Amino acid sequence: MKIRTRLTILFTLITATILFVFAGIIYISAQEDREEAFYTSLRKEAVTKANLFFNTDVEEQVLKDIYHTNSKILNEAEVAIYDTSFNLLYHDAENVDFVKETPEMIRQVLQDNELRFYLGKRQAIGQRYDFRGKIYILTATAIDWDGYHKLNKLLQNSAIVFVISILFIYIAGYFFSKKAFAPVKEMTEKARVISATSLDLRLKSNGNKDELTELANTFNEMLVRLESSFEAQKQFVSNISHELRTPLAAIITELELSGNKDRAVHEYKLAIQNVLSDPKKLARLLNSLLDLAKASYDPSEIAFRELRIDELLLDALRQVHLTNPEYKMDIHFENHFETDEEICVNGNEYLLKAAFSNLFENGCKFSDDNKCTVEISFEKEIIGLRFIDHGIGIAPYDLTQIFTPFFRGDNKKFAEGNGIGLSLTQRIIHLHGGTLSVTSEVAQGSVFTVRLKNLA
Ligand code: ADP
Repeated sequence: MKIRTRLTILFTLITATILFVFAGIIYISAQEDREEAFYTSLRKEAVTKANLFFNTDVEEQVLKDIYHTNSKILNEAEVAIYDTSFNLLYHDAENVDFVKETPEMIRQVLQDNELRFYLGKRQAIGQRYDFRGKIYILTATAIDWDGYHKLNKLLQNSAIVFVISILFIYIAGYFFSKKAFAPVKEMTEKARVISATSLDLRLKSNGNKDELTELANTFNEMLVRLESSFEAQKQFVSNISHELRTPLAAIITELELSGNKDRAVHEYKLAIQNVLSDPKKLARLLNSLLDLAKASYDPSEIAFRELRIDELLLDALRQVHLTNPEYKMDIHFENHFETDEEICVNGNEYLLKAAFSNLFENGCKFSDDNKCTVEISFEKEIIGLRFIDHGIGIAPYDLTQIFTPFFRGDNKKFAEGNGIGLSLTQRIIHLHGGTLSVTSEVAQGSVFTVRLKNLA
């Protein structure tokens, strides 16, 4: 069931309950009022008749005649007068006698002064009447036709008003909820047409400061993020294609050239040597991409364990040295650590080694002296690593871009590369809950600072 229908029904049900309770209270209180008013009128009629009977010379038969005539037109009460010994002194209609008084009834009236009861629809009253020092008992009974009629009318009118109100409320609720949910419907329709190829579309917000505007804005913000991430993906794929195509084209050309005629063995060797650098470049690129993919995993899927930073740095240094024996790398401790926990981090060995290798390699390859030093320092729960080189440095604009995948700075001609190293390094450090920052000056050198949480 749609929320709109559910809300309308709920709203109608709540209103119906309130109306029902309201009408019920009014009906019950009208019923009580009618009952009370009729008992009062019975009491008055009984007293009037007793006054006439005792005080005036009106004959008993005349009183009875008045009763018979009036009871047909005016709904007059049937009155009887007894003395305390249950002797009947007067009765409006002995032959009918609705009340059927008993000595027990008389005793009860004497005890409580008044007795009220129903005989079917008929109300009856028994009451004490004092006259010239003597006590008498009066009974009176009649049916409150008028009161019942008014009550019935009230019930009927209430039922009609109730049904009409509920119908009206349901229809009004249906239209109001339709109006209230119109923006949601519009949003749903708009969202339905947004796909990977139309991520530039945005939901319309009505400008009010309400929940729907908030929803539309949040949705639009999500679209902006999705759009930029899709753009980044597209850019990434086109960069990779480009990076793969260039060395492959070079290999094909080289092989075609060397195969188009018979050559001496030393020429073939030379050609193979020339070709070899391109597959190596490709292998490096693919390794970096693989690492980048690993670093993009969910941290919960990567195995973390306790690692000593100095050992990791040494391993990374050796790894870089293996492929670039001319690089000179050093490790310095700025201050001493007191416990082993201070130099340990919780991390993934393979990824951290890849990150440190990149920083060492960059420091060396962008320096004339091929030198890079890492300084290790400890402060509270943080290990700081500063990879320092005195190389060619990075231009201010490039500093803001160097962590973007495939970006290579103005100084790229100085050394070979594919522009993935730093983005990979940054991703790995973030994955470990750390930070990577850089300061650099052209022709002075660069300092890349890694800050990681230790186990202290
Ligand atoms: P690559 O080194 O393969 O070009 P990176 O992602 O490692 O890619 O680095 C991106 C760019 O940042 C490099 O092309 C270079 O312009 C700049 N860079 C990184 N490290 C240094 C450094 N130590 N000195 C000077 N420039 C650097």
